[in-house]
Amino acid sequence: MSCVFCRIATRQAPATIVYEDERAVAFRDIAPQAPVHILIIPREHITGPLDVSEDREALIGHLVAVAAKVAQQEGLAADGYRLVLNQGRNGGQSVFHLHVHLLGGRRMTWPPG
Ligand code: 5GP
Ligand code: ZN
Repeated sequence: MSCVFCRIATRQAPATIVYEDERAVAFRDIAPQAPVHILIIPREHITGPLDVSEDREALIGHLVAVAAKVAQQEGLAADGYRLVLNQGRNGGQSVFHLHVHLLGGRRMTWPPG
């Protein structure tokens, strides 16, 4: 299996997993851009946001719900956090397995770079 996030989801590659269930896995980003930086991925290999068809709407909703649960767990609920999905070159995507970035623990700037 060549996809690093598929390997993390099946525990064939190491990661600090903070939450998992039958559909999703959440683990700490290897190069954190904020005091809390966690990636939430579906177990299913989906290349990116562009491949989210209508029949996968519920799965994406689940990823946002998992992010909320993890944010609570990480103490981010009161001060807030940011969720980011990058698509393709202009979006800054570097790993081609859909993931939601959960960033928190500092004030984010707007617009993003
Ligand atoms: P993207 O740029 O595709 O939106 O985000 C990919 C993220 O995955 C980056 O923040 C990067 O640091 C993280 N990442 C890449 N490879 C690994 C890895 O092997 N383990 C973990 N935990 N994070 C990774
Ligand atoms: Zn994958």
